[in-house]
Amino acid sequence: MKAIRLEKPGQYAQVQIDEPQKPAAGEALVRVLRVGICGTDVSGFLGKMPFYSYPRIPGHELGVEVLETGPGATNVKPGQRCAVEPYLNCQECRACRAGRGNCCESLKVLGVMTDGGLRPRFVLPARKLHPAGDLAPDALPLVETLGIGYHAVERGAPQKGEDVLVVGAGPIGLMATAVVRHAGARYVVVSEPNPFRRELATKMGATLVVDPRERSLRDVQDELRMVEGFDVVLEMSGNANAMRDAMANMAHGGGMAILGIPTEDVPIDFNQVIFKMLTVRGIYGREMFETWYKMSVMLQSGLDIRPAITHRFSFREHEAAFAAARSGDSGKVIMDWSGEASDDAAP
Ligand code: NAD
Ligand code: ZN
Repeated sequence: MKAIRLEKPGQYAQVQIDEPQKPAAGEALVRVLRVGICGTDVSGFLGKMPFYSYPRIPGHELGVEVLETGPGATNVKPGQRCAVEPYLNCQECRACRAGRGNCCESLKVLGVMTDGGLRPRFVLPARKLHPAGDLAPDALPLVETLGIGYHAVERGAPQKGEDVLVVGAGPIGLMATAVVRHAGARYVVVSEPNPFRRELATKMGATLVVDPRERSLRDVQDELRMVEGFDVVLEMSGNANAMRDAMANMAHGGGMAILGIPTEDVPIDFNQVIFKMLTVRGIYGREMFETWYKMSVMLQSGLDIRPAITHRFSFREHEAAFAAARSGDSGKVIMDWSGEASDDAAP
């Protein structure tokens, strides 16, 4: 069968690979239905991702169908569609024994440190599969992005009826917007310079979207008659000025969750933190083991994240798919292999 492999930074190839072996004890053979492309894949393509090695079959945001299970793999059955937890941990090291598999000493993330899902079929530990019930296949690769956005919302901890500012409407900011709205915030204001993404933020449930180059946050607060400032800020842009500006427009006692990774020094005004008694929290990745349960509860209760999907490609269109993911004018880019899963990816 054929797979899409990143041979070295900047160079993809369709390569012939062997059919997977039969699943051993505790393993499952799956066919790949959907693969989402995220910033990590793009960074891998650009050669800017730490821990990434080449050649590598990318793909860690996955929706799959179970084809066959090995002995003892009882959590899934052939025919079930599943979301995939792409963090393969050893289960033996100190971190794993303490229940912190997300910082396993020999953690291997699918598609980053070991081959991922840009291939028709592969074998993985069955414990990393979460049966999706009747959730749409398109929702499954988004669970990964949703999990990170959700983690930020959980750390920012907005209460029902509070006002939230989301800074940056990339795929993660879009997911956070949907989660905050779903959780019952009053105003969800999204600040984003890119008009394509501002439109997406509206589809994901933002109350008001603003271009930070054209409108100040103070102006926005006046329009919404928000006298006390934002209760919670979710920083999803990595932009230093945006972080500082958001902090200056927070309510006393408010909370800020910082997920965007700044590429320059951020001039924080600590007087804001001190005199307003702000709670500022960092977010890294997502919790591994509880996330699927929380995500599935939200998805089953009506959270629709599919409007974030703006581009869909077949696997043979991988170059166009990665180009779309690299451009700012995209939300979530997914590759759909359902029509050709039993065949090769080649034209
Ligand atoms: P992204 O780059 O697609 O989105 C960032 C968005 O911020 C873009 O749409 C950009 O137009 C917008 N932006 C730029 N300047 C802005 C400004 N001044 N005000 C408001 N918005 C502005 O990235 P993403 O994949 O959605 O990820 C969001 C951020 O989180 C990135 O910085 C990424 O590196 C980081 N990240 C962090 C973690 C973590 O675990 N902490 C995990 C994944 C990604
Ligand atoms: Zn471990």
